[in-house]
Amino acid sequence: MISTSAHGRVNLIGEHTDYNNGFVLPTGIPQMTRADLEPRAGQTVFVASTNLADKPFSFELGSERAVRSWSDYVQGATWVMRQEPGAKVCGFDLAISSTVPMGSGLSSSAALLVAVLRAIRGAWGLEGLVDDIRIARLAQKIENEFVGARVGIMDPLAASLATETAALFVDTQSLQIEQVPLPTDQLEVAVINSGISHSNVGGGYNQRRSECEQACEALGISSLREVGMDDLARIDSLPEPLRRRARHVVTENDRVLRAVTAIRSGDCQELGRLFRESHLSMKNDYEVSVPDIDTLVEIASAQPEVFGARLTGGGFGGSIVMIARAGSARAAAEKVVQRYNGATGRVGFVLVPKVAVDGTREITAP
Ligand code: ADP
Ligand code: MG
Repeated sequence: MISTSAHGRVNLIGEHTDYNNGFVLPTGIPQMTRADLEPRAGQTVFVASTNLADKPFSFELGSERAVRSWSDYVQGATWVMRQEPGAKVCGFDLAISSTVPMGSGLSSSAALLVAVLRAIRGAWGLEGLVDDIRIARLAQKIENEFVGARVGIMDPLAASLATETAALFVDTQSLQIEQVPLPTDQLEVAVINSGISHSNVGGGYNQRRSECEQACEALGISSLREVGMDDLARIDSLPEPLRRRARHVVTENDRVLRAVTAIRSGDCQELGRLFRESHLSMKNDYEVSVPDIDTLVEIASAQPEVFGARLTGGGFGGSIVMIARAGSARAAAEKVVQRYNGATGRVGFVLVPKVAVDGTREITAP
C-alpha cells in the first residue's frame, strides 16, 4: 500500500497575477488530502472518497472519460500519467480522505490531484521520471484539458511544494521557485471563510482574464508581465476598465516582490501594509471584492494583534487571509468572525489555524 498526501494552500499575496505571467506567494495550510493506493491485477481502477457520500466508482485504464464529477480528477490522473514516456500504470484500489474543505478557495482540487499523482508515482516507481514540478504541471494539465477548469500553475505548484512554515515565491513566467521561510516566531497566518460562496467566480474570473488580454492588445504586448511600475503612465492612457485592471496586476506584482523582502527582513508591519494595499487594489481596481468581504477585512485590520488582512483567491466571495502576531491568530480570528457575523448576518468561520477537538492546535492532519 502506498500512502501519500498533499496540502491545501492559501495565497498570501499576488492575486490574479498567475495568468498574467506574474508573481505569486502561496503558503501551505495544515489541512491536507490523503491518497491510499493498493495496486491490483488487471486494468480496472476502483476509487472511493470518504468526503463524499457518492458510491465508489470504477473505470478502465485507457477508457478515461470526463463526466463532470469528482471522478474526473482521478481519471485525469491516470490519463495524464499513462502519457508520460516510460510510465507503466496498472489497475489499483484508491481511497481518498481529506481535511481540505472543497470549493473554499483552499485548492482542494490541486491537493487531490497531487496526492493521487504522487500515489501513482510511488506505486510504479516513477520518481526518476516525474519530479515534484512535473507533478504540478501534470495536475494543471488535468484541470485544463480533462476537467475543463482554466486554472493557472499556482495551485498545483503550491499543493506539490508548499509547506506551512515558508512562503512559496513563484515567478509564473520563468517557473523559478523559492522557499521563503516565514518569521514564525513573529507572525501567524489565519484564514477566515466569509460564508459567501464564490459560485459566480467562473464568470467574473473569465471576464477579468479577457480584460487583461484586451489591455495587452491595446498596449501591444503579449503579457502584463512586460510592463512594470515605470509604465504606469502608459497604462493610464488605457480606456476604463482596462486601465484599472492593468494597474492592479502591475502594482500587485510589485507588492509580491516587496512582500518577499518584508518577510526576509521580518518586517511584519510592512507586510501588513502590503496586505491592506493589495485588498484595496482588488476592491477598487480589479473589482473582485464584495461589500461584506470589505467589512470582514476592515474588522480584521482593526484588531491590534493583526498586521494586515486581504481577500484571497479569485474573489466575489470566498476567504480572507490575515497575518497576526505569533500565538494570537486563532483568538483574533475568532473575535473577527464573531463581529463580522454580527455586523453582516453571514456565517463566517475560521479555517486556519486549525484547532483539534480538544482545543490544542492540530498540526498533523488528517
Ligand atoms: P477548490 O479547489 O477551490 O477547493 P474546485 O472547484 O477547484 O475548488 O475543486 C473542488 C472539487 O474537487 C470538488 O467539487 C470535487 O470534485 C473535487 N475534490 C476535492 N477534494 C476532494 C475529495 N477529498 N474527495 C472527492 N473529491 C474532491
Ligand atoms: Mg481548485
